[in-house]
Amino acid sequence: MGISRHFECQHCGLAAAVSGGDDAGKMTRTQTRYCPECETLVDVCTGLHDHVEEQPHHRRGYDRCPDCRRVVSIAWSDGTPCPRCGGEITGGDVIVAWD
Ligand SMILES: [Zn+2]
Ligand SMILES: [Zn+2]
Repeated sequence: MGISRHFECQHCGLAAAVSGGDDAGKMTRTQTRYCPECETLVDVCTGLHDHVEEQPHHRRGYDRCPDCRRVVSIAWSDGTPCPRCGGEITGGDVIVAWD
């Protein structure tokens, strides 16, 4: 079960609903990353669980921003500075749990 939590930068106002680090759903593993194109935090799919049979269409979606579909490689996790401005990010309240 993965979760989404609300984070907000106190300096630049960046706000996002992401898991805040490495997470996993029923089929996929995810990681929170910063998308410079969208200027926000997103959860990207980094792969599937071992028990899930990989299909060709899965692989095309790895490490990509769910919004703009670019490959994003800047990982962010709860407790580290804002990847956009270096400011402090607060929050962490759970807003939704997903499979
Ligand atoms: Zn910021
Ligand atoms: Zn993006």
